Amino acid sequence: MGKQSETYFQRAQEVIPGGVNSPVRAFRGVGGTPLFIETAQGSRIFDADNLQYIDCVGSWGPMILGHGHRYVVEAVKKAATKGFSFGAPTFAEVELAEMIIAAVPSIEMVRLVNSGTEATMSALRLARAATGRSKVMKFDGGYHGHVDSLLVKAGSGGATFNVPDSAGVPEELTKLTISVPYNDLKAVRAAIDNEFAAIIVEPVAGNMGCVPPGEGFLEGLRTICDEHGVLLILDEVMTGFRVAYGGAQSRFNIKPDITTLGKIIGGGMPIGAYGASRKLMELVSPLGPMYQAGTLSGNPVAVAAGKATLGVLKNSSIYQDLEERSGEFEAGVLHAADKHGVPITINRVGSMWTMFFNDGPVTDFESANRSNREKFARFFHLMLGEGVYLPPSQLEAAFFSAAHAKKDILQLIERADRSLKKVAWEFER
Ligand SMILES: *Cc1c(COP(=O)(O)O)cnc(C)c1O
Repeated sequence: MGKQSETYFQRAQEVIPGGVNSPVRAFRGVGGTPLFIETAQGSRIFDADNLQYIDCVGSWGPMILGHGHRYVVEAVKKAATKGFSFGAPTFAEVELAEMIIAAVPSIEMVRLVNSGTEATMSALRLARAATGRSKVMKFDGGYHGHVDSLLVKAGSGGATFNVPDSAGVPEELTKLTISVPYNDLKAVRAAIDNEFAAIIVEPVAGNMGCVPPGEGFLEGLRTICDEHGVLLILDEVMTGFRVAYGGAQSRFNIKPDITTLGKIIGGGMPIGAYGASRKLMELVSPLGPMYQAGTLSGNPVAVAAGKATLGVLKNSSIYQDLEERSGEFEAGVLHAADKHGVPITINRVGSMWTMFFNDGPVTDFESANRSNREKFARFFHLMLGEGVYLPPSQLEAAFFSAAHAKKDILQLIERADRSLKKVAWEFER
């Protein structure tokens, strides 16, 4: 890529593993040098070489309002002026908790943490504390942060780099985690027994690329959990306030026992949360015996960004607009792919989507993994050359924001059309 990014990346690789602080950023899923970002505004990001891109990553989900939303920036400035961190309660935390509880149907009490990883780790601990059981079930290609016991057949970077089971996690722990194919209730039924504390699931999978729940899948999980006294954890770190204001659980009308949140509720600042019924949350310290804490939890600046973001999303037509524009994009790109004879499948739920180089359907990790990664990598770089920043892996979800105007969508379709034409020329002859 640009000269400046190249120079920065050289230096970065000397002092940071792979030159990045989160693996997928290193571009190893597509080859080449990652862009070093200088600034972003609205739907656009600008790299160190001052090149401009339409951003379809949105910091992997949080930036649903687009970059630098005036209202959020103001809120953050104001909070920062008052102090960065106190290690004592603030009223803004209460307000954010109230907003989350009002939005997400199954949550009666919520605890703020600092990342999605902390949220899922704590949710598992809560499920184990509540049931007195040890085993947990997850799904192949499902990613729930880098929690030890959840790095089993994990999605996201693990899947991209073919290390779904991380080194450094004791077998004693992974033995307690059973992973089965997504959208496969039969496999769940075959594996379940009364020793499971929880089933944890992304209600719309986003870390093997976007894979929506099949008809009846989430309802089936609810039933199976109830039959066996197992708690259902919906990991809504990605889907919360993304696929609907109240998350996937309000969109699909499913009531989990425990919900995890992150990403959007911090508006781009580090945050996470787990919530559940009052009865379950009363197990959490200092009310109950399950310990969980955090020096920076409920950080005033992060909370301010989250509150401002949810404030804008609430009672707005944003979700409807996102649906419309994302639908236009999907139709336009499918048309272009068809025209050029490139087999693709687009999975999309609202403004979260993945374009798989695969004639589909893509319903689980296995079918997602059948995608042609060479074609994806080529398409990725062609789009980058066109000024479009896509997730640098076939197995990740892309996102649109409220700042992606109709004009951006039309540009994206044109650029995808040109790129697909070249992919067809190089691969389909
Ligand atoms: C991003 C993500 C996480 C992890 O959140 P971090 O803030 O990166 O720790 C967990 N679960 C899901 C579904 C995610 O998409």
